[in-house]
Formats: sequence, structure tokens, C-alpha cells
Amino acid sequence: MHAQELDFNVRNTFFLALEEQISQCAKSHTALGLLIVDLRNFRRINAVHGFNIGNQILQLAQNRIKACLRTQDVIARIGDDRFGIILPELPHGEVVRLAASKVLKTIKEPFLMEHGPVKLDASIGVAVHNVAGMNAEKFVLEAEKSLKFAKQRNLPYAIIETEASEVHDKEWELEEALHHALDRDELRMYYQPVIDLKTQRPCHAEALMRWTHGHLGPISPAVFIPLAERAGMMDSLTKWALGTVLRDMGSWPSVQTPQRAALNLSATTLHDQDLVDMVYTSLRIWGAEPTSLTLEITETALMQDPKTSRQHLKVLQDSGLNISIDDFGTGYSSLDYFRNVPANELKIDRSFINNMFDNRADEKIVKLVVELASSFDLHVVAEGVENEKTLKALQAIGCHKVQGYYFARPMPQKEYIDWLQGFNPAQFFRD
Ligand code: C2E
Ligand code: CA
Ligand code: CA
Repeated sequence: MHAQELDFNVRNTFFLALEEQISQCAKSHTALGLLIVDLRNFRRINAVHGFNIGNQILQLAQNRIKACLRTQDVIARIGDDRFGIILPELPHGEVVRLAASKVLKTIKEPFLMEHGPVKLDASIGVAVHNVAGMNAEKFVLEAEKSLKFAKQRNLPYAIIETEASEVHDKEWELEEALHHALDRDELRMYYQPVIDLKTQRPCHAEALMRWTHGHLGPISPAVFIPLAERAGMMDSLTKWALGTVLRDMGSWPSVQTPQRAALNLSATTLHDQDLVDMVYTSLRIWGAEPTSLTLEITETALMQDPKTSRQHLKVLQDSGLNISIDDFGTGYSSLDYFRNVPANELKIDRSFINNMFDNRADEKIVKLVVELASSFDLHVVAEGVENEKTLKALQAIGCHKVQGYYFARPMPQKEYIDWLQGFNPAQFFRD
């Protein structure tokens, strides 16, 4: 007999199964283990072998894991490239380590596909408890913290025991501080130019948020944006960002460079009913044209609630705003999906651009994306262009726009104005 397999991909159902096991283990006074298995670089497998093979491999991996678990264990696919495993009624907590090692070992065995072997690797986040006082949410959060820990340190798996609560406290402190960041005037907008390869001039700037905490100093948006999302603060941050960008843009030199900016929207904002109103109101207040604004939405945010996203974006696009799909290539959508998405632009994720020269597959992907996107009338922006060699390759491929440290890092308003005024194409485009 093999472990139970939940035949759904819905996180909620997994939560319910976990709740149930928590109460079972509480009754039997046994420990409960939870593993979150995150496949490494699975996106690359999809990119190289195609989504069909990708899906087949995921299914095979799930079957294999299932085969090495006990009957009472539960496995479910809880994300695009993630499995959740519930290990109930453990005689003692240490058994989870054994389970994690077994799962890793079986995943690492090559998968023999028709066209040759494919290798997978994974990181595993582990939580284990005698369950008194636990709930499913806390459990998952702990396993996710362990996973993050494992990934950051490149460990095959990690169990955060006492550390978990410490990390939690720190996050909570940060969340508290973020609530005051706006009143304390600790947020700033930085601007990074995007260059049009046809005119060889800046065509707009991407606005990137910065937070400098009173004691802790600068905190990366990769840390505080997800925090703000969880704390339900994205709305006020986006409102502030919109106002700041529209105001700042008015002072940019307009000779030869259009006063245009791109703003990042997070998933929660995109699905918010008030989004369209919020954008219109800000444009009216600052007397700005809708065409001067691009909204960047990540591929993953779009996929979370495709119907609502499409509705909101359609209204915004119809009134003249530009819509850009950010981090393209990191999600699971095929280009075909975008036939139905109101968008003007695709931004290829910088992981592809950075790897273009080390990895032929990445170069091919970039080329293909440019060709296909053009056939859908979408402009392609390559982000993360760090050197001239990459710029030249992108020019040869026919990419439309580029952005990256080769041209400039994100800069505060004043520095950005100076940069625009001093811009000389000959400095970057040499023959
Ligand atoms: P993103 O939208 O993909 O932004 C691009 C990130 O790439 C920025 O990181 C930028 O500084 C960095 N970058 C630009 N050129 C290069 C390069 O040549 N090489 C490398 N290695 N990196 C480059 P940053 O500013 O740390 O922002 C991280 C993420 O935080 C953004 O990713 C975006 O998802 C989010 N974010 C930033 N500002 C906002 C905001 O105002 N609202 C929302 N919702 N998200 C934001
Ligand atoms: Ca962006
Ligand atoms: Ca991006």
C-alpha cells in the first residue's frame, strides 16, 4: 500500500487535511511532520523540454515520492513546482529527517524520458511538532521558513526549531515599522531608465520603491513588498507610489525623452476592486496623461485570478495606459495565454538575460520570446542588461528595449534628472 495522494492542487484542501491530522496526532500524543518540497530550477526544465514533458516529470516525481512514503502519509502538489507532505503519527520527531532524506534521494534519481535522462533537484523545508497548540497555518509557515533557510544556504533540507519563532518576531517588528514608514517619510521612489534600441535613447523609467528604516537602514523591496502584501498595506503603498511617480515625472526634462514611467503593481492591488478608481484619481490630481504611465504586472500575479486581472487591465488599457508583463518566463504560462491578456509589453526576466552566454537554451528562449511577442504586437524589454556584450546580442536578436546596470542603476529623483540631462548614446552604443 502506498501513501494517500490528494488528487487536487488546491492549497485549501491541503490545509484541511493538515488540520485533521493535527487533531488526530493530538489525540494519539504523537508527533506530526510537514515537508515542503521545492523543486530547484524547474522553470528551466519547462523551458528546455516544454510544458508537456515538464508536467509528465512532475507527475512521475509525485508517484516516486508517494512510493517511498508510508500508507498514512499524505502528498499533494501545492504549487507549480512544490509538493506538500504530511507525516502523521511519528514515533519521535527525528523520523522526519529520515523522510526528508528518502524523498530527496528518490527525486535525484534521473528520470528516463523518451529523449534522454532528466535530473531534478530539490530543497525541503521541514516542520515537526508535538501538536498541542498548533494550527495548520502556523505549521505551514514554519515549514516555509525552513525552506527559505535551506534555499538561502543551499542546504538539501532544513528544520528550524527554536529559530522559527525568532524569525517570526523579527518579521513582526518589521511589519510594525512598515506601518509607520509612510508617516515617518522613510519611503522613496528610485528610477531606472529603460532604453529604446531603435532611437538609442531613454523612453521611460521604471519606478522602484526604497525603504530606509530608522535603525536597520535600507531594506530591500524583495523583503518589504511581500510583508506589505501580507499586512494588507499594499493599497496605501501603491497610492503613495502613484502620487510620487506622477509628481516626480513632471520635473523630468522632456526634450528628446518622453516623461513616462512604469510602476510595479503587486498581485493584491491588481485584484483590488478600487484599482481602476485609484489610478484615474491620481492621474486627474496630477494632470497626467494615461499614456504616460505603464503598469508592470508579474506573470504570476496575473495567473492568480486571471478573470479579474483581465477585466481590470482591459479597462485601464482601453483608457490609454500601457500594460507590461513583468518577470516573463518565471511562471508557467505559454505565450499563447497572452493572446487574451490586454498587454503592450513583455519584460523578459533577468535570469534569462544574465545566463544568455552560459546557456544556449536561455539564448534560444530570449530569441523565441522576441519573435513570438512581436507577432502578438507586444514590445519586448530585456531587464538585467549588465554589459555591452549582452546589449549587442539583444540588438542582434531584435529586442525592442533594454534596462540594466550597464546603463544605470535605479537612482533617486535628483540623480535621475542629472543622468537624463547628461545622457549621450555614444557612451553606450559603440561600434
Ligand atoms: P522587478 O520589478 O523585477 O524590478 C527589477 C529589479 O531588478 C530591481 O530590483 C532592479 O534594481 C534590479 N535590476 C535592474 N537592473 C539590474 C541589473 O542589470 N542586474 C541586476 N542583477 N539587477 C538589476 P529592486 O529594486 O530590488 O526591486 C525588487 C522587486 O521589488 C521588483 O522586481 C519588484 O517586484 C518589487 N518592487 C520594487 N518596487 C516596487 C513597487 O513600487 N511596488 C511593487 N508592487 N513592487 C515593487
Ligand atoms: Ca518590474
Ligand atoms: Ca522584473
